[in-house]
Amino acid sequence: MLAGAVRPAQASVRVGDDALARSSAAAVQGLVVATSAAWDPEADTIYTFVTLDVSRSWGLDGQPARVVVKQLGGLVGGTAFVVGGQARFAVGEEVLVFLDVRPRDRTLSVAGLEQGKWVLTGAADPAAAAMREMRGTDRTVAVARDYRSTAALDVLAALAGSRVSASGAVLEPMAPAADLAASAAFTTLSSTPARWHEGDTGGSVYVDTQAGGHPQFAGGGLAQLANAAVKWSAVGSLRLANGVARTARCFSNVENDGRLSVSYGDPCGEIADGSSTLAIGGAYFSSSQQRTINGVSFWKITKGMVITDNPASKWSGFTTGCYEDVLVHEIGHAIGFGHSTSTAAIMYPSISSSCFSRAVSMPLGADDLAGMAALYPGAGVPPVTPPGTPTGLSANVVGSTVSIAWNAPATGGAATGYQLLAGTAPGVANIGVVPLTAPGIVVPGVPNGLYYVRVVATNAAGASAPTLDLPISVGQTPPGAPRSLAGQAAPGGNVYISWLPPSSGPAPTSYVVLAGYAPGANTFQIPVPGTVLAGGGVPSAVYYVRVVAMNGAVAGTPSNEITLVVP
Ligand SMILES: [Zn+2]
Repeated sequence: MLAGAVRPAQASVRVGDDALARSSAAAVQGLVVATSAAWDPEADTIYTFVTLDVSRSWGLDGQPARVVVKQLGGLVGGTAFVVGGQARFAVGEEVLVFLDVRPRDRTLSVAGLEQGKWVLTGAADPAAAAMREMRGTDRTVAVARDYRSTAALDVLAALAGSRVSASGAVLEPMAPAADLAASAAFTTLSSTPARWHEGDTGGSVYVDTQAGGHPQFAGGGLAQLANAAVKWSAVGSLRLANGVARTARCFSNVENDGRLSVSYGDPCGEIADGSSTLAIGGAYFSSSQQRTINGVSFWKITKGMVITDNPASKWSGFTTGCYEDVLVHEIGHAIGFGHSTSTAAIMYPSISSSCFSRAVSMPLGADDLAGMAALYPGAGVPPVTPPGTPTGLSANVVGSTVSIAWNAPATGGAATGYQLLAGTAPGVANIGVVPLTAPGIVVPGVPNGLYYVRVVATNAAGASAPTLDLPISVGQTPPGAPRSLAGQAAPGGNVYISWLPPSSGPAPTSYVVLAGYAPGANTFQIPVPGTVLAGGGVPSAVYYVRVVAMNGAVAGTPSNEITLVVP
């Protein structure tokens, strides 16, 4: 352990029990009399509310007879939200829990997730009087546990709420429990197994980052984030791909877009600053899309989230290796894993102190790999990248028949199809989106008018960026360019602009004045019936102005450009 370095706790890493107790706001001993899960509309997030009839408490004002502990995550209907390593409660349990105060709404939560919850067993052996589950849901072997005597637990509880310095009582290291070392096995995030299904068909799960990344690591720690995603993608069928930069995302289930996001600085106000918790990772999953893998039915993960806490002191002294370990671990939760009992596994709930001498994360352990083989078996289908943008978009109009052609993209993955988007203005598809299997289409009987089309290429991984808009004029001849554009401006924003009609082409039906703050700009497009535009209240600026003549919806070429200084 390095001096000055916080040992990441709970979802990622654990501190010693005495350090966790000291950093807790309170401790409570009591009987679990009720549990219920519900959406908190304030945060649009599922919480589980655990009601305790209190027999003893430390650090709480007024010795309350009953408290409600509000735990992040739970199951409501066909939607589950689970964070890795969360403590679970059952009615009838006698527990002693260390508690934090949630910054967002001042409610209580268990400190250090499962590390902060002890069950009082009533065992005759004093050394086994308090028992703690050390791991997430296990679907293969008996849950590992560790134990303390009630006397030792009382010493810990007395530290809660005191925020005393490290000169306080220090407990002897806990004796390893016999069954803790007996068998190591990966676990799933929840007793309801869940996974991402995207990789089964060659798709990717995108890992988005809050813009800017983590402020305490070079480059926002984005290199560590990319490495962490690669760690899991390099084995099995799951493909984690770099996503986009976005605003911070909390645990809310809105924006349920099938992506995994990483946010920094506890934007949800979920993690107590004084706690030892560094980060939380979890996922929403749904019963509506189930898939059987290796004989196990998995719900589909619909959204993954990793949140790191904000106090700078929690991260000071961290190497990039330690940070990357945390990210790999938390992403592990967000792809469906609970904690492992194998100390060599990245999903073990304590960070390895070896990270302080590493620049990158530890490799996945054998137990992590066993987990990947169970949830994401095989190498998956080869990854597919979206195609690049098609090139050479052109159109030929003969009468009312329009032939549109383009070239297959020269970059990206192979295109398996195209979409032609057509509209009555640039960038819109209000006429339609036409799926096509080959580049090119001939459309007979097109009504007279001016149309704008663009094309995207598609394959299993998604769509390319669109081509630029191609204007297509059917049955209409564009007018010539207006002549002799001139203008004047006076105080009060009064402007007077005039021009002469084109000397060639069909007679214009109207004009459009184009104006902007730079040469060639058309920020402002002002329809004008005649050859004069006059008015007041124009904001002071230097404007570049042109005018085009219209024949119906067809625009001609622009006039000369003038500079108009509006005082
Ligand atoms: Zn964890």
